Amino acid sequence: MPTELLFRDDAYLKTATARVVAVHERGIELDRTIFYPQGGGQAGDTGTFMRESGERIVVTDTRKGDAFDSVVHALSLEAPRPEVGETLTLELDWARRHALMRLHTALHVMSCVVVAPVTGGNIAPDKARLDFDIDMSMLDAGRIERETNALIARGIRTETVWITDEEMDARPELVKTMSVQPPRGAGRVRLLSIPGVDLQPCGGTHVANIAEIGAVRVLKIRSEGRRNRRVEIALVG
Ligand SMILES: [Zn+2]
Repeated sequence: MPTELLFRDDAYLKTATARVVAVHERGIELDRTIFYPQGGGQAGDTGTFMRESGERIVVTDTRKGDAFDSVVHALSLEAPRPEVGETLTLELDWARRHALMRLHTALHVMSCVVVAPVTGGNIAPDKARLDFDIDMSMLDAGRIERETNALIARGIRTETVWITDEEMDARPELVKTMSVQPPRGAGRVRLLSIPGVDLQPCGGTHVANIAEIGAVRVLKIRSEGRRNRRVEIALVG
């Protein structure tokens, strides 16, 4: 059953109410959610469900379900199971998610500083990385850090843009990430726009203004294979 993805229109929702529609061995499905399921390199959200009794249930991870746009909220083994039809108050681990949003948006900015095909990526709460198909001699930590932070300091508002599959097909240059093609089949593709800096298909959660990233530092640059030169970053402060 598809879940209404509230984070798609508002990544800043920290709480919401939702109804339980399925309980199975992988976890809990709701009619709507603020929890982002792991995907596009971004880690799944954690947080809590609060029952009407006040009892709290810890959500340890969020993953995509089997059906299109369905979301499964994972619980620990010993956690109580809510019942189908029950109304829950969802509470996100906001500090963790906000760090993910800042780092995720920082990767969009960095992908405009390192101009090369992206062959992989990952976003964890404490660090994020992109892999590039590029010669190692082209990657200078100091330059990447300086130029990424200079762009961040421009304080540009981000925008979500939807285009049709046909428009996407007509603009293949939008796809930087060779390993991940944007999801098809829904008739439209979601893009993240940082006007004047970056425009690319992305289903993840981003900050409203790139100034919110603060600043980043390059943790390391290393080769993970001929087409995977890895640049890892973290937030400063
Ligand atoms: Zn993104």
